[in-house]
Amino acid sequence: MMTVQTKIGSAAADAAQVLARLGVSEALTTGGNRPVRSPVTGEVIAHVHDASAAQTAGAIERAHGAFLAWRNVPAPRRGELVRLFGEELRAAKADLGALVTLEAGKVTSEALGEVQEMIDICDYAVGLSRQLFGLTLATERPDHRMMETWHPLGVVGIISAFNFPVAVWSWNSALAFVCGDACVWKPSEKTPLTALATQALFERACAKFGDAPAGLSAVVIGGRDVGETLVDHPKVPLVSATGSTAMGRAVGPRLAQRFARALLELGGNNAAIVAPSADLDLALRGVAFAAMGTAGQRCTTLRRLFVHESVYDAFVPRLKAAYASVKVGDPREAGTLVGPLIDEAAFGLMQTALADAKAAGGQVQGGERVPMGEAFYARPAVVEMAAQTDVVKRETFAPILYVMKYRDLDEAIALQNDVPQGLSSSIFTNDMREAEQFISARGSDCGIANVNIGPSGAEIGGAFGGEKETGGGREAGSDSWKAYMRRATNTLNYGKTLPLAQGVTFDV
Ligand code: NAD
Repeated sequence: MMTVQTKIGSAAADAAQVLARLGVSEALTTGGNRPVRSPVTGEVIAHVHDASAAQTAGAIERAHGAFLAWRNVPAPRRGELVRLFGEELRAAKADLGALVTLEAGKVTSEALGEVQEMIDICDYAVGLSRQLFGLTLATERPDHRMMETWHPLGVVGIISAFNFPVAVWSWNSALAFVCGDACVWKPSEKTPLTALATQALFERACAKFGDAPAGLSAVVIGGRDVGETLVDHPKVPLVSATGSTAMGRAVGPRLAQRFARALLELGGNNAAIVAPSADLDLALRGVAFAAMGTAGQRCTTLRRLFVHESVYDAFVPRLKAAYASVKVGDPREAGTLVGPLIDEAAFGLMQTALADAKAAGGQVQGGERVPMGEAFYARPAVVEMAAQTDVVKRETFAPILYVMKYRDLDEAIALQNDVPQGLSSSIFTNDMREAEQFISARGSDCGIANVNIGPSGAEIGGAFGGEKETGGGREAGSDSWKAYMRRATNTLNYGKTLPLAQGVTFDV
């Protein structure tokens, strides 16, 4: 265990240079009311300006005006704007990735991966812009045709969490833009700089595009109150909100109150099962990345591990050795696998959870603070538990993996499902029956169920989201685009009579 304070290079100077290269005006990041702290060093690296309620409402009105024009632009042409934005992201990948590292604390490869995810969803959305199709349906009336058409919806409000400071916005906005919508984005108050940089890149793409309506995309900085203005505004027909279940509990009913659509992407408490036939080398790598990657701060982070009693003693000591040896430190340095926690509060919640686990009989390895100036780094913790107690059932957004032993698969699946959240899950097995059962109707109850890969991370081609307290929303691939459009059913009569449906007569 380290006891010496480790020296760490300044983040403020790096941030200023990167922001300038990304085209963010200094006026936006200096002199504001809200300090932005880098979790890498704990330094304040900028002061951004919160949007007032009037400024937020103004951005929404402008976005609505942009939507009225944008909805008339043919979808493949709208795709061209997203294509150009994807090109800007490719050109700026290193800089935007560096800013993700400075502001969210992700290690370099994960930060670059986050930007790559933005590029991927842009490519996906460009293709989608020629595939926003509806169905033609059988009608019971002669000389009639029935079909459905998908129309742009309006202004999409996007509220995002700190841990995917830019990718989550792009999953929503790339689709929303090709669907003919405008977007107003309230990023996490912990990560406003990456949002401002993304907006600057989007504006570069708009300049190349030529005639994108002003206000098509806007960023409004601030806390919960700014989010609430978006949630309550009558000209925002859809709010996509990513964050804690507590946030979703506040946002969901407010949207329901005015019959607006909610796309909720909330907390997870993801599990993996290591079965008797598992390839233990593969499982070790899968578990280690899923549980310790992003310092345990992914919604899909692996938090609960069920290991079959026949392989427990072969597997768990190797896992604990990996936990003890993994490099925790400056996420900018090569070789670092675990970067900082976002802030002191996150470290405090981690310590509380570990104390609760110990009180419930858990055997804790790791979890200590790694001294690095003002920043909050912790060794990832692995905790052997005899049972799935309350602390295991709640999401603690930190690198804690609870490990439990199981005897039969039905029991393990029941335990895995016995939590309020339902985001992601996986099984490591080479037994086809077990794998199929896990992904069957009586298997995992999560939105994501994997075999022989961990629960963490996802490709943009699939629909992303989860059940129960995770909120039920789906983003990114498959048919998630339908959330950003409104469906109209059209019946056309090309005959000379007017037969009514269900044989009704009404002769006047
Ligand atoms: P958070 O809930 O504290 O904040 C998320 C966002 O919601 C922020 O922008 C915040 O300002 C805003 N917000 C909070 N209360 C609000 C309210 N009442 N009205 C309007 N806006 C409000 O979450 P966080 O700490 O930034 O992120 C971590 C959490 O997010 C974890 O629970 C994690 O599992 C979850 N998450 C889920 C997904 C997913 O796709 N399911 C993805 C990333 C993160």
